[in-house]
Amino acid sequence: MKQLAALLALLMLATGCEQEPGEPEKEPVTAQALHAHGEEFEEQVIQVTDDIHVAIGFGIANSIMIEGDDGVIIVDTMETMEAGRRVAERFREITDKPVRALVYTHSHPDHIFGARAFVDDDVPVQVFAHDSLEEEVDRIFSALRPIITQRSMHMYGNMLRDEQRTNVGIGPFVDTQPDSTIDMLRPTDTFSDTLEVEVAGVRLVLRHAPGETDDQVLVWLPDEEVLMPGDNFYRAYPNLYTIRGTSYRDPRTWADSLEMMRDLDAEILVPGHSRPIHGADEIRRHLTDYRDGIRYVYDQTIRMMNAGLTPDELAPRLELPPHLEESPFLQPFYGKPEWSARMIYQGQLGWFDGNPSNLHPTPPKEKAHRKVELMGGESEVADAVTEALEAGEHQWVLELTDILLQVAPEHSAGREARIQALHALAEEEINPNARHWYLSHAGELAGDFEVPNQIVEPDDRMLESIPLSTYFDGMAVSLDGEAAWDTHQRVAFEFTDLDEARTLTVRHGVSELEDGVSDEADIHVRVESLRFKQLLAEERNPALALARDYEFEKGGRIAFARFLQLFDPDIELE
Ligand SMILES: [Zn+2]
Repeated sequence: MKQLAALLALLMLATGCEQEPGEPEKEPVTAQALHAHGEEFEEQVIQVTDDIHVAIGFGIANSIMIEGDDGVIIVDTMETMEAGRRVAERFREITDKPVRALVYTHSHPDHIFGARAFVDDDVPVQVFAHDSLEEEVDRIFSALRPIITQRSMHMYGNMLRDEQRTNVGIGPFVDTQPDSTIDMLRPTDTFSDTLEVEVAGVRLVLRHAPGETDDQVLVWLPDEEVLMPGDNFYRAYPNLYTIRGTSYRDPRTWADSLEMMRDLDAEILVPGHSRPIHGADEIRRHLTDYRDGIRYVYDQTIRMMNAGLTPDELAPRLELPPHLEESPFLQPFYGKPEWSARMIYQGQLGWFDGNPSNLHPTPPKEKAHRKVELMGGESEVADAVTEALEAGEHQWVLELTDILLQVAPEHSAGREARIQALHALAEEEINPNARHWYLSHAGELAGDFEVPNQIVEPDDRMLESIPLSTYFDGMAVSLDGEAAWDTHQRVAFEFTDLDEARTLTVRHGVSELEDGVSDEADIHVRVESLRFKQLLAEERNPALALARDYEFEKGGRIAFARFLQLFDPDIELE
């Protein structure tokens, strides 16, 4: 935390906001630093060169416009159609040349889902992306959508009141509201390693640069020596692990891509989040620090793993060397070294920490009951909670109430203490992801809101562009296994508009998909593909859909309705 104190001292000098005696108590140092970081994302369109503009602060990500002779290229297109329109409007004030090409630096929603807002349906548009982007986009819509939506909303604080929310570390806010819409264009020109093209007279080099995602590409303008690194570099410690949940991100690959970027010797760098940087020396230095900030954490984590340390033991030991700790580009406003270390452990060795107690641990509820009993009962634990709260031991309050509320979920003093501790931890927290998570959990506990598991509405065009296999993948993982133990049934779906068919078999708790209409199908329905997709995307009333959208070649409506009822993602929790 030394670097924060130094940073704050500098800020105070710069703004003359030193605290006078007798003034009301200021917010904690960490919270002040986080608020100050928000200035990075003040809403504006920055002119980078004669031909390049970057829109910052209109949503979480940046969108970049490169102007050519008879058209423009847009690099990244915001997270929703609404955010996309706000930016597109501002870009049109600069030039009315048509958009000839889009570049997606990677598949994250904040770079692609406002795409259609930028284009004119009458002008052909090339859409550049890495080969693997489409598959990644489709994945967003399939298996993990409910949980990732919920976790993202905790992390970005979407449910919080405006005054509770700070910036989100790499942008001012995430523009996803209950009525937000998303719509993108599918890539037309993809590549695996490098692609050199000319659009509207602008020479572009696109290079695969895996890092924050495997499908990440960088944009290099060789004539102007401008580098657009996507999300492989921004003004915050890299999100090697994001607490909303992600599969393993290999830090070595990310570091390699930073070396490649550094070796371009760019004069200007325009990132996917935060403000541009000018000057080859500055850029080289910051890219090297960023690379080192990643490699230090990776190498030291592996070293500690080899020495036998577990995730809980090694994560708090990780401290960056002072010159990296002080780098303005490595402050923990988005990722954190200690979360990265835990991810590295998991990615390399999986969940088992080597302690045999953890091979078949006592279930949480039973363990809580046993512990509370040993500690002298509920009221003893509740007293300890109060004491910890008074002593300002907020993390300990969380850990004690974890046990207490397992045993007595409605314990009002316990709940109240937990809410207070969460608020206090949020106030001390510099990382907005953690801060918003504390506050969101407090809000849920207080009954202020419930966090939904679906929020944005994909446009019909978008649903149509997602392949059928994605929807069937979604069905496979929402099948209520236990409810289907006694079911052995085959349902053939014939898609009337596509001349395609699939047969889905549910075999005693497990499903299997095959192409075509199986002769052994028990039920055979005919349906338009969009109607089928709308039902699965929960954008069509099931009763209405069953009555209107499905024709039966074989089997009946009631049997089919029963079959569909087996696909229920909700689980009754005790
Ligand atoms: Zn991003």
